[in-house]
Amino acid sequence: MATKIHVDLDDQFCEIFSQAGGTNLTCNCGREHISMIQMEDWEFYDDEQSLEMLQASYVEMAALDDNLILDYDNHGFSMIEVAGFYFVDGCECEGWRPYMDFLFEERKYIAQFLLAANGEVKKLQSQADLMDMIAKEYDLEK
Ligand SMILES: [Zn+2]
Repeated sequence: MATKIHVDLDDQFCEIFSQAGGTNLTCNCGREHISMIQMEDWEFYDDEQSLEMLQASYVEMAALDDNLILDYDNHGFSMIEVAGFYFVDGCECEGWRPYMDFLFEERKYIAQFLLAANGEVKKLQSQADLMDMIAKEYDLEK
């Protein structure tokens, strides 16, 4: 019996598909992720009392809003961009997972497709190069 191999690609996928980040990001699912510890770094809130009031107001808002996620562990979040959607890395929706699973499960066909696409691009490029060579040879305007 063949051993089923489980590959955990979450970290690699998120790193490769993360193009931006922030301390306050809204995921495609609607959840807004707020870094609570990052607020301590904001210069504006160097006054301890203002910071505590701000954090307390977020705690109050989060109690009334299930989509407001307060994070006490991270100074910021990565934004995973895939197929035109933006997902916050670590969001419980894991909205990127179907894309990652598709890419992984179909990797053999995707590799074949990319090779074919690369071949088409090379063919078109060499045709364009040939046209440029001919135009140059006969001093034609393009
Ligand atoms: Zn989400």
